[in-house]
Amino acid sequence: MTEFGATLSSQNLKKYRALINGLQCDASSSETIDMICPSTGLPYATIPRCSAADVGKAVSSARSALESSEWSRMSAGERGQCLLKLAELVEANKDHLAELESRDTGKPLSQGYGDIAAAVQYFRFYGGAADKITGETLPIATDYLAMTVREPHGVVASIVPWNYPMQIFARVAGASLAMGNTLVVKPSEDACLSVIETANLALEAGFPAGTLNILTGLGEEAGAALSYNPEVDFITFTGSPDVGAMIQSAAARNHIGCTLELGGKSPQILFEDADLSKALPIIQDCILKNGGQTCSAGSRLLVHQSRWEEAVDTLRSSFRSVVSGQYKDCLDLGPLINASQLRRVNAFCEQAEADGITLIGEGTIAPDAPTEGYYTTAKVYGPVPIDHPLAQDEVFGPVLSVIPFRTEEEAIRIANGTAYGLVAGIWTKDIVRATRVAKAIRSGQVFVNTYGAGGGVELPFGGVKKSGHGREKGFEALKEFSVLKTIVVSHA
Ligand code: NAD
Repeated sequence: MTEFGATLSSQNLKKYRALINGLQCDASSSETIDMICPSTGLPYATIPRCSAADVGKAVSSARSALESSEWSRMSAGERGQCLLKLAELVEANKDHLAELESRDTGKPLSQGYGDIAAAVQYFRFYGGAADKITGETLPIATDYLAMTVREPHGVVASIVPWNYPMQIFARVAGASLAMGNTLVVKPSEDACLSVIETANLALEAGFPAGTLNILTGLGEEAGAALSYNPEVDFITFTGSPDVGAMIQSAAARNHIGCTLELGGKSPQILFEDADLSKALPIIQDCILKNGGQTCSAGSRLLVHQSRWEEAVDTLRSSFRSVVSGQYKDCLDLGPLINASQLRRVNAFCEQAEADGITLIGEGTIAPDAPTEGYYTTAKVYGPVPIDHPLAQDEVFGPVLSVIPFRTEEEAIRIANGTAYGLVAGIWTKDIVRATRVAKAIRSGQVFVNTYGAGGGVELPFGGVKKSGHGREKGFEALKEFSVLKTIVVSHA
């Protein structure tokens, strides 16, 4: 039985289709992939299993659209208008899209609504920004006029993960379409239905056929074929570091650029003067949001030894009150995305306990959560040795590792002591210390006395080290999704 009281056989699963050249289509092989609801463990829809042949069609469609007069003669302002219209359409469909996003990913419905609202903001931001990108004039010798202009890369390939399908799709599509690129998007086979539906809304918003193509399928098939396709001009990838390295090699093979938005093991540093009553609820929220399956989750909490007992006591009781449940009912924590993610997260916890690390506090699973769903409890461990996998590796689950420190230097050393560098949080009333530590941390973003799990639409976002390179969001993304050309005119 599903949570809606009906048993679905594979014949009556809702069929979603890829979108190529403005047409909804099946895979050329007619093969499909079942979409499994993380809350129930049951299939509820199918998507086409696109192959390399379908990748070829989608990329050709994006190339033809790029060269068509309909797109190439559209002004930046007109592209912006299409994005603003798309924002309106997504907003008008927010109830349906939020439900779809939550069912697909397992995240609580309130978070599904948050993701759709963020997608609307991305389309609005880039809709408004489209005609505000300017070049420069450059002072060279007097008989010349020298200037720079920004041009689109051409055909952009975008590979999207399952944790925030709608948000990541919207930030990439918003910025790259605003700049005049055309797109082929390969969303995740684990969660992609909101992306398919939004791309269909984009046609209604006025984007010409072929400017935005959605290619569903498996990573190692459709994703790999897309990343190696020689007709692609730029790749933007969000996902795991291992696949990111493959994407980088594919981009190098074709001598094109790429942005990689990868994983994280982000530290939160609580200094001795931190306001714990403000900090701890935010820290807890930022590790539990989306089941901890957030690249920017603050998964390591570094606590000054003078505040250890207080922090641990508070976390023990607050984690105990966290209940995991079905996306429709739960306020705190939904299920994880799939069975293998659940096994992976549980394996980290079993290893930690076998190694003698103390489980400080643990939540519960709602008694009515379907037994076949991918539920786990919220957990907080500590003290975690700094070289333990729980302190070094991305768990991607609702698991917080607490680590004590004595001095500022030690805190910085521990914070910088992983392979990642995505986000960091600093909690102190001392602004001089906050500034000094913010400068010493190697990461793409630093928050002081707050933690924005990625921040607002306006803020550039990206990593260093194993967290990737390039910046998305904000105006920086418009630079990433364009090429700077220098033009020099002699008027002698
Ligand atoms: P993943 O790397 O397994 O998959 C991401 C996408 O890549 C999916 O669409 C998948 O189908 C595709 N893919 C898989 N193998 C491929 C291949 N060989 N060639 C081309 N494409 C392939 O990642 P995931 O499990 O979906 O997402 C979790 C990871 O994403 C975590 O590490 C997380 O931190 C990271 N992430 C980063 C950000 C960020 O902005 N930095 C945001 C969200 C998620």
